Amino acid sequence: MNIEERIRPNILNLKPYRSARHDFASGMLLDANENSYGSVIEFDEVPLHRYPDPFQTTLRSNIADLHGVKPENIFLGVGSDEVISLLITIFCEPRTDAVVITAPTYGMYRVAADIQGARPLTSLLTREFQLNTQQLLSITDTHTKLIFCCSPNNPTGNVLRRYDIIGLCAATRSVLVVDEAYANFSNVESLADQAACTPNLVVLRTLSKAWGLAGIRLGYAVAHPSVVNVLMKVKPPYNINAVTSRLALQALERKGEMQRFVDAIVTERTKLADTLRLLPIVERVFPSEANFLLARFKNASAVYHYLARRGIIVRDRSTEPLLENCLRITVGTPAENNALINALKEFVG
Ligand code: PMP
Repeated sequence: MNIEERIRPNILNLKPYRSARHDFASGMLLDANENSYGSVIEFDEVPLHRYPDPFQTTLRSNIADLHGVKPENIFLGVGSDEVISLLITIFCEPRTDAVVITAPTYGMYRVAADIQGARPLTSLLTREFQLNTQQLLSITDTHTKLIFCCSPNNPTGNVLRRYDIIGLCAATRSVLVVDEAYANFSNVESLADQAACTPNLVVLRTLSKAWGLAGIRLGYAVAHPSVVNVLMKVKPPYNINAVTSRLALQALERKGEMQRFVDAIVTERTKLADTLRLLPIVERVFPSEANFLLARFKNASAVYHYLARRGIIVRDRSTEPLLENCLRITVGTPAENNALINALKEFVG
């Protein structure tokens, strides 16, 4: 599949901005109007007075190693949210093109589509929160440029069947974006290696969840080089700042720590789900392969407001399709989970 045919012509023909750091990164740097005297603060020997590497060479290479792919398969964004927006920018002609968004799912796909003026087409998940591939394909046409899937899905917590994703990718000319933000909490194999060699498959990952680095804003796409090249062309030249880069490089050295967090969260997830299931106000706790649980209550809104009054903040998802009376609860520390359970035990409906 020739992905270039699917890219907006103005983006394909775009002459990208060439920053000073495109040409030289070392020497006597008098080319970028930086402060040659230094910066007013110091951070871990990061040259804060210099613009960061626009190609993010080392970081992309280390992230590529994580997934067994090449650096040219990696695109870094200011969170995966930036990658979502840029994908819509490069593929969707405003007021003409469309994106498919499954429902219920993460809200930013729709917001990013709305910002770009791309038509959001909704494909309702099945009762088991799986893809309805037949219905999904039936609403796509030549103007449907992207299909967003989230696996494990936020807020339902389940993994989408690999067979469905692969089948969908083979059956469509749209680019399938599989958001694996929560994949570290699941045992299911990543599609990252497939994405590296499939032009119409893009996998999104983030350091915001399992790595515990939501504050540094780093997400990435694993994709075919033809897609990565276009993303590199449209991104702001210095989107990944030097502090984020340094911290991310340090974090990647601590994969074992990340795995220990994941193991602890997964253990707590099971305990919390089992305890919630015993509460009379809880109707159902859905199986989860993420770091949160979706639970159906007898009266979600009352529980939500009651918990908030007790200082415990969860997410009310009950207005989303298929999610009547459902709250999404992030798995906390053992102390937080106990406090939540104790509060729920004292709820009088
Ligand atoms: N994808 C999903 C499914 C998410 O739930 C979130 C954040 N809640 C994101 C992407 C955004 O992550 P980031 O912090 O990398 O922008």
